[in-house]
Amino acid sequence: MIQVKDKTFILFLDEKTIQKRITEIGNQISRDFENRDPVMIGVLNGSFMFLSDLSKNITIPTEITFLKISSYEGEKSTGIVKNLIGLDSELKGRNIIIVEDIVDTGLSMLHLIDQLKKTNPASISLATLLHKPEALKHNIQLDYVGFEIPNKFVVGYGLDYDGYGRNIPEIYQLKL
Ligand code: 5GP
Repeated sequence: MIQVKDKTFILFLDEKTIQKRITEIGNQISRDFENRDPVMIGVLNGSFMFLSDLSKNITIPTEITFLKISSYEGEKSTGIVKNLIGLDSELKGRNIIIVEDIVDTGLSMLHLIDQLKKTNPASISLATLLHKPEALKHNIQLDYVGFEIPNKFVVGYGLDYDGYGRNIPEIYQLKL
């Protein structure tokens, strides 16, 4: 068990389990995008650790960049989707791989995909480390999913609780 600010969390996915799955996804992406010159776009802040480890398992040439959106405050989604910040790559005709920490309701990804479509890319794929199928409210295609998890709040491995816990190398679930 760990404490992040005022909340207690229980171990859910250990480092070895996470790394093993990321290696598998990296291998799969490397096969699927061979000779397609992909651009991987990490969604800040939560995806920094996932993209870091995932990119080390990509064996083909790939561009890597980041952007930022936000729809979350504290424990519950506010449902407010803010604009994209910091997108600096030319995406026209490119094969985009969005790299996200977690898809919850899917609202953030729906919005992001809509915005990215405006840049006329060749394709848009989505890789997410975590997915809560019970929480999904929007119809989005998840091409690469690390783990399907129950609809409970998690921290660690890039995911925060009020800005804390991102540096924890494992994933922990809120103790109710
Ligand atoms: P969505 O738009 O899919 O509802 O929410 C996606 C975003 O909400 C994620 O990128 C992440 O920042 C945040 N989020 C959703 N579920 C959790 C969770 O269990 N823990 C944390 N720390 N963030 C979450």
